[in-house]
This record gives sequence, C-alpha cells and structure tokens, in this order.
Amino acid sequence: MNLKTTVFGPPATGKTTQAERIAEAYNIPHITTGQILREHKYEKTEYGRPVDYMDKGKLVPDELMIHILMILLRQPDYQQGFVLDGFPRTIKQAEALHEIHELDIAFLIDTEEYRLIERMGERMTCPNCDESYNLKSNPPERYGVCDTCGTELEHRTDDNREVLQQKIQEFREKTAKLVDFYEAYGILERINGNKPIDGVWQQIKNAIDSQFNAEEQR
Ligand code: AMP
Repeated sequence: MNLKTTVFGPPATGKTTQAERIAEAYNIPHITTGQILREHKYEKTEYGRPVDYMDKGKLVPDELMIHILMILLRQPDYQQGFVLDGFPRTIKQAEALHEIHELDIAFLIDTEEYRLIERMGERMTCPNCDESYNLKSNPPERYGVCDTCGTELEHRTDDNREVLQQKIQEFREKTAKLVDFYEAYGILERINGNKPIDGVWQQIKNAIDSQFNAEEQR
C-alpha cells in the first residue's frame, strides 16, 4: 500500500508504539525523529547540539530538522510510503514536508494531560535500540531488560516532570497548530489516545482501511 502518514500528539502519548504498528501492518518504513536525534545528540551543528534542546524539552531548531528530514525523504526507499513519528512538529516543518510529499492521513493522538504524566513515569527505553516499553501496559518479558537486544532499560534523560511540562508547552504553542494545517487539507484524523494500546490501534487501522477502501471503490 502506498501510504504516507504521520502520527503527532503531546509527549508520551504513545506515538512510537502506534507508528510501529502502522509500519508493520502496511509494510512501510517508520521514521522516528526523536530516535534519529538521540543517535546524534552530542553532534555539533551550526544550530548547536541536539542534546542541548532535547534535555530541556525544547524543540530542536526547524532548520536542522528540515535539513535532516528532507535529505532522508528524498531517498528512493521513501517514495512509495512511510510513517513519520515526531515530524512535523511545527508549521514550517509541515510546509517543507508538503513540498516534497503529500500525506494521505495525519493522525493526532489526543490524550488527557494527567495520563501523560502517568505514562512518562511508566516509560522505560532501551539506550541501545531505542525500543520503548510501558511498565504497566507494554512491559518487557524480563523486568528491566530489552526484549529486542537484551540491553538494560533506562528512563530517558528527558523523562521527568519539569521536562514533560516544557514539552507539553511546546506542543501547545507549536505542534497543535498542525491541527488546522491538516484539517485544511482534509486529512486530519483525531484519535482518542486515552484508550489502551489496542483500542488506539483499532481506531488508526479503521481510519486507514476505510480511506483506502473508499479510494479503491472510486
Ligand atoms: P520524542 O522522542 O519524539 O519525544 O522526541 C524527543 C525530543 O527530540 C523532543 O523533545 C525534541 O527536543 C526533539 N525532536 C524530535 N522530533 C523533533 C522535531 N520534528 N522538531 C524539533 N524537535 C524534535
């Protein structure tokens, strides 16, 4: 399926878990900007080091993000489809993306704020492969150990209350504007993120299947 989509929402809303499911179910590549940045977080760029923004819960400058993503998304591997996770996060990023790819659907996973704080505390991440777990709803098979590569799990350095509040603020001020942007293109799909992982996934899957079934019948 030639599906081009993005998953956005407030921090700790489960974007990566759902994007992984989309990638697997529809056989498309998954691009997580948070992971790309964590792999290069100490690199010096002309806009500073990504870690200096990430550990404060601030968005990395648009110029750097757009530069990285535009190089990636022009590669042949991404011409037939992809699921973006954590990009775009600003109108500038959305405009740059739109110039080279038109998305089919943009998913907003909407979650109540108190649940974000709960989820952040329950989240553990693998420092080696970036696999993310939730100690309650999606625990690893062995406590504290990554199922995929066996590395000891950690809390992310940006998983604390103060940083989360800053990330929520960045979301409200910058990323929430994408709602109007994608609504104007008629491709916004609001997902209730307060449900368990399977319930969120069912809504996403239904939205994709009904859009593509409708296109086939046309
Ligand atoms: P995430 O793993 O999606 O929570 O991203 C972790 C951090 O990476 C964010 O708090 C930002 O500092 C940075 N980041 C990820 N994606 C973007 C983006 N599209 N634009 C700016 N900063 C980003």
